[in-house]
Amino acid sequence: MFNDDAYFRFGNLIGYRDSFTDTALTNEKLVALLQQAIKSSNLILVCFDDKNRLTYANARAFEMFNVTSSESLEKVFFNWIETYSSNLEYSNWCQVYESIDGEKVFDITCQHIKSAEGKLRSSIYIIDECVSNVSGRAGALYRQMHDPLTGLLNREGFCHVVEEYRNQHKLDRGAHYLIITNIRDFKLINQIHGDKFGDSILKTTGRIIKSLLYADDIYGRLYADKFAILVPEKNFDKAMYHSMINLIRSQITSEKHVLRLQAGVYKMDTMMDDVSAMCDRAMIALNSIKSEDPVTFAFYDPEMMKKAITEKIVVTHFESALKNGEFRIYLQPQMNQHEELIGCEALVRWKKDDITVIPPNAFIPVLEKSNLISHLDAYVWELAAVKLREWKHTEFRDLYISVNISPRDMEFMDVYEVITGIVKKYDIDPGKLHLEITETAIMRNPATVSEMILRLKDDGFIIEIDDFGSGYSSLNMLKDIRADVVKIDMGFLRKSENEDRSRIILDSVIYMAKRLGMYTVTEGVETPQQFRELNSMGCDVYQGYLYSKPVSIMDFEKKYSRIYKSEKII
Ligand code: C2E
Ligand code: CA
Ligand code: CA
Repeated sequence: MFNDDAYFRFGNLIGYRDSFTDTALTNEKLVALLQQAIKSSNLILVCFDDKNRLTYANARAFEMFNVTSSESLEKVFFNWIETYSSNLEYSNWCQVYESIDGEKVFDITCQHIKSAEGKLRSSIYIIDECVSNVSGRAGALYRQMHDPLTGLLNREGFCHVVEEYRNQHKLDRGAHYLIITNIRDFKLINQIHGDKFGDSILKTTGRIIKSLLYADDIYGRLYADKFAILVPEKNFDKAMYHSMINLIRSQITSEKHVLRLQAGVYKMDTMMDDVSAMCDRAMIALNSIKSEDPVTFAFYDPEMMKKAITEKIVVTHFESALKNGEFRIYLQPQMNQHEELIGCEALVRWKKDDITVIPPNAFIPVLEKSNLISHLDAYVWELAAVKLREWKHTEFRDLYISVNISPRDMEFMDVYEVITGIVKKYDIDPGKLHLEITETAIMRNPATVSEMILRLKDDGFIIEIDDFGSGYSSLNMLKDIRADVVKIDMGFLRKSENEDRSRIILDSVIYMAKRLGMYTVTEGVETPQQFRELNSMGCDVYQGYLYSKPVSIMDFEKKYSRIYKSEKII
């Protein structure tokens, strides 16, 4: 009648799990045990065949639903029960029932028994009253501590139960894990498939968590798609969590949507931290996940906290720093084949005070993550335009300035409108403002970006593909994107075991770009030898420490001003 898994589940349910030893219970013993348990407890038991026809119900079931016939019981029961995800073999959840003597909360366990071929044979529901009067004090407390959607503890309930557990186990030496799970792009799923679909994902996730975890694990839904679980080390088994997460995915992933799940894990050796600190750390681990894999776990380490603090500082101070003019552009020269200055790249720096200059790698990824990068980029483009206007009447009139466009800019502003607006405002030649777009930005949305590139080119801007060769789809992209310049990633120049191969690729890319009618810029040129080699390959433009690091505008103008030099000589 039962498969092995069912023994285990029911054993767990009626409290015999711990007595499971090598000598497993026989069928007969288990059935007798179950009968005894059902008789002596207040549990409600209903069983159905594969067509959902009632095969057994105990007296408590008829009492609960206030019916006398099997047909009525079937009808009332299936009207009440939430049967989505009925393909789950075992699930457990809470649900409210409104009987004649008021609303009550029930804990429901459902086991589907299947044949060896996987065909449904019967379904058993065990229903336990957990809050007898929802409108009374116990009910109020229940509602305060529980999430109505999943029936699990809510944030308050989870914190309360963990706090109590912590007080009891303060002196215990055992380690614990706090796990927070996240459904990737959950907001998007809601937007695309509707809230109802989103809700059913959360309910199924809640059921599976409830069904698979041990009695002494504590779990709840903190908010939205974030479920939290506190597990003593003895119960923690990464493989089990992997299977749990895979089970959730298999229940929800459909042709309509492929679900990706992530978990942040904080391991603590003692239970000294308070609950919110534990959750913060698990959240930090969760937020560190960059992988696009369908299932990813990240374990907290203290470095993550340092990074999170830096990120917080960046995000908090960004707007005021922008207003205070703390962001400056540094210029790095670009040389032609004769090593003459022809233009430069504007690279942003955060100059907090006279001494502290923060490099872009410390804040650009944070601003990209927090959707603030477009504010900074638009500001940098404007600084470049201001400089180009100033240069119009100086010896630098022929130089261009190359600016960077972040992949995320396209999501948060109309890049075309902003750039053309700036050029008009400062009355500069669009050909003097080169636009660097990375391969990644193009690949995110090739159709839109390629259309935008065409419009910008029509207006006279020069478009460069930045970091070429560092992404995954370089060649295919070159086919469709009509840029003017290929800016070859400096990775090809770095010292490595594969130098000879790098050289062959460099040579081919330069040759190919030429045949496609594009110029090539190589960045990261550090030695005269590199210059000579690239020159012999036909590279058009050179940028790198060989000529100069990015320097402040003042230093750039000083270094390259003939007037300044001649004054100095005099
Ligand atoms: P990127 O656009 O690839 O810029 C080139 C980076 O390489 C610059 O780093 C530059 O200082 C460095 N570099 C140049 N020549 C050499 C060399 O010979 N050797 C070595 N080792 N490095 C060299 P930087 O200024 O730290 O910028 C890092 C990245 O930050 C940039 O990479 C770019 O992706 C981003 N970035 C900088 N400014 C902006 C900006 O205004 N907007 C956006 N969205 N990103 C920016
Ligand atoms: Ca660049
Ligand atoms: Ca680059």
